[in-house]
Amino acid sequence: MSQPAGSGRKPPLKVLLCSPRGFCAGVVRAIDSVERALDRYGAPVYVRHEIVHNRYVVESLKAKGAIFVEELDEIPETDAPVIFSAHGVPKSIPEEAKKRNFFALDATCPLVTKVHREAEIHHKRGRQIVLIGHAGHPEVIGTIGQLPSGAITLVQSVDEVAAFMPRDPGNLAYVTQTTLSVDDTADIVAALKARFPQIHGPHKEDICYATTNRQEVVKKVAPMVEAMVVVGSPNSSNTQRLKEVAERAGCARAALVQRAEDIDWSLFGSLTSLGITAGASAPEILVEEVIGAFAERYAVSVETVTTAEESMFFPLPRVLRETEAAE
Ligand code: SF4
Repeated sequence: MSQPAGSGRKPPLKVLLCSPRGFCAGVVRAIDSVERALDRYGAPVYVRHEIVHNRYVVESLKAKGAIFVEELDEIPETDAPVIFSAHGVPKSIPEEAKKRNFFALDATCPLVTKVHREAEIHHKRGRQIVLIGHAGHPEVIGTIGQLPSGAITLVQSVDEVAAFMPRDPGNLAYVTQTTLSVDDTADIVAALKARFPQIHGPHKEDICYATTNRQEVVKKVAPMVEAMVVVGSPNSSNTQRLKEVAERAGCARAALVQRAEDIDWSLFGSLTSLGITAGASAPEILVEEVIGAFAERYAVSVETVTTAEESMFFPLPRVLRETEAAE
């Protein structure tokens, strides 16, 4: 068993730190949008839904004056900014915000917006659209809500592809949620193409660069370690996928933890090697906290395993950029 701090010599533990991990460009932009709005307009700033799926981030922004709501009807009449989260919103939400004269700021990740535009183009061309994604996720609700009811059909698995009855099998297109498992999605796309060879779709799929890169490095690290910790929130889709990827790549002891205090030490006793990664909405400070918790029990040596370099950057929403320039 590992030993708590102060109980003698600690056993060695080699930590392989996945890179890339943690914040992606869309999450940075969304959080910066809230912080920038708070600086510029003062508190409160309303945010519809968790700006990104991370409790620590949400609590930090609450402490600075952000008020989180699930629906616009929870917001009183106000001049304060109302920000839409990185996951995107159905078209009805900005319309409702306009009716109520809200000062709306859209922090939807540009890579989610790109999927919305793809869906609109397919719809204009008369195609029925299949959305590969997870029911109930805000991004899926937002994408389905770009078009009239019935224009998009959600498909979650290869089995659901087999059961899908399109209106016109020769006139179909597909789009995907951005934060899916690359491998599962490839299987679903293959099943769609096998049944409907003429189906239109993106060149690859719509899974974003950050999701793809974080899964790739986990695939490399997971077979090299006895256990993996994925830092992130249970309601974060890309984070959940990282845990699944680790398990499928051969690491049976994989756990998702929000913070060091959540670590179940019964899972992490008697280790000599450990992989650590973080979902796209998990701040690096929480990764450091988790490494610190292991360092209290083990003599930790950290090595970074890098499979991709990232340089993606998304500018802030225009109105926030303009106010920045004016100052
Ligand atoms: S995970 Fe991908 S789609 Fe989601 S916010 Fe980050 S870059 Fe955008």
